[in-house]
Amino acid sequence: MKKIQSIRGMNDLLPDQSPVWQYLEDTARQLFERYGLSEIRFPILEPTELFKRSIGEVTDIVEKEMYTFDDRNGDSITLRPEGTAGCVRACEQSGLFNQSPRLWYMGPMFRYERPQKGRLRQFHQIGAEIFGLEGPDIDAELLVMTDRLWKDLGIRDHVTLEINSLGTGEDRQRYRTALVSWLEERREALDEDSQRRLISNPLRILDSKNPEMQKLLVEAPKLSEFLGDDARIHFEQLRALLDSTGIEYTVNNRLVRGLDYYGKTVFEWVTRSLGAQGTICAGGRYDGLVEQLGGKSTPAVGFAMGVERLVLLLDAARVVPDSIGRQVDAYFVGDEALRGRILAIAEQIRGLCPELRLLTHTGSGSFKSQLKKADRSGALVALILGENEAAAGNVTVKYLREESPQTTVSVAEAAVLLQQLLSQE
Ligand code: ATP
Ligand code: MG
Repeated sequence: MKKIQSIRGMNDLLPDQSPVWQYLEDTARQLFERYGLSEIRFPILEPTELFKRSIGEVTDIVEKEMYTFDDRNGDSITLRPEGTAGCVRACEQSGLFNQSPRLWYMGPMFRYERPQKGRLRQFHQIGAEIFGLEGPDIDAELLVMTDRLWKDLGIRDHVTLEINSLGTGEDRQRYRTALVSWLEERREALDEDSQRRLISNPLRILDSKNPEMQKLLVEAPKLSEFLGDDARIHFEQLRALLDSTGIEYTVNNRLVRGLDYYGKTVFEWVTRSLGAQGTICAGGRYDGLVEQLGGKSTPAVGFAMGVERLVLLLDAARVVPDSIGRQVDAYFVGDEALRGRILAIAEQIRGLCPELRLLTHTGSGSFKSQLKKADRSGALVALILGENEAAAGNVTVKYLREESPQTTVSVAEAAVLLQQLLSQE
C-alpha cells in the first residue's frame, strides 16, 4: 500500500527539534512579559475577505499565496497567511482597542510558496502588535525589545537592522506617480514581473530580487524625497531614539514590505547566515488598518518573526545551550524485582526536585544493557537501585558525563545532589 506523506512544505516537528523550538518560544514569551505585552490567540481560519481587505488585493500574498477554500456553506475561508489581520479583527470584535492593548501571539501561518530552506507552506511566526500609540517612541521600543531578544538568544552579531519610512498615504500617492512615470520611460528594461507590477503595485518593484532590476533602480526617484512633514519628523525622531539607545541600523530606501497596510516606519532584521531567506523579523507601522477594517482610526505598530528561520540561525550560530538539547537528566536503573521500589523512589525524587527530567527504565534488561540505555538517553547521571541499596534505603548516583566517582546516599541526599547538578548549568 502506498504510504501517505505530509503535504509539501508542511513539516513535522520531531522530538529532536522540539527542545530548540520550546527554548525559542519560552525566551520570546519571557521577553514579551518583561515589556508589558499580553498574549492573544485568534483562529487559524478567517473569512477570506479579512485578508483581501487588509493585506491588499494586489499583493503577492493575496494574489497567489493564500490557501482559500469554500466551506460546506459555500463561504470563502482562508488559512491565515499572517497574524496582524486576525489580531486586528479580534480586538475590534471584542472592543479591546479602547484599552490600547500591547499584544503578542505565536502560531502557524500558511502560504502557498515554493518550499526551500527557510521558506515553507506551513510556517510559524511569533509576533507583536501595539495599538493606540502614534509616536516614534513605541516604534523604537519595539526595536529595542527585538534587539534584546537577539542578545538573549546569542545571535546579536548575526543580524543587522534596516529601517525606512513609507510616508503617509498621501506621500506614497505622490511618490507612486513620480516612480511610475520614471519607470514607464524605462519600460523595455523592466522584467516581466516588474512590468506587471507597474500597473498593479509599483512600489513593490523596489523590492525586486532581480540584480538587473536592482541596478536599474539605483537611479530611481527616492521615497524619502517625497515625505511630508508628518512622516519626515516621525522618522527623524525614530532615528534619534535609536541613536540614543545605541542600536545600529542602516536606512534602506528600497525597503517597502509586501503588505499594503504599512505606512511611515518599516523595518527588517536581516542575517547573512541563511542565504536568500535572510529576513528573520519584519514589521512596521500600520496606522490605517483598523479603520480600513471598519473600526475607529487607531495607530498601530508591530512585527513578526519567522520561527523556522530563527531556529536555522540558532543552529548555524551554534548558540543553543547544551542543556536544551538534552531531554533526560537522570535515568533510573535497577533489579527487575525492585521495580515497585524504583517507581516509588522515582516519585519521591520528582517531588523533591521538580525541574529534574527523570526517566525510569521499564521492561527487563541486564544491568549492563540498562546502563547502556542510560548512557544513550543523554542523561547526566544514572540512579541505581540494587538489593544492597534497597536494604539500606539508599540509591547510587553514577555520573555518566564526568569523572566523579559514584556515590551511594539516601534518597533525600540524592535529590540534593541532582538539584546541585542542575543548578550548575
Ligand atoms: P519574504 O520576503 O522572505 O517572503 P515576507 O515579506 O513575505 O518575507 P512577512 O510577511 O513580513 O514576510 O513575514 C514576517 C516573517 O515571517 C519573515 O521575515 C520571515 O522570517 C517569516 N516568513 C514569511 N514567509 C515565510 C515562509 N513562507 N516560510 C518561513 N518563514 C516565512
Ligand atoms: Mg513572502
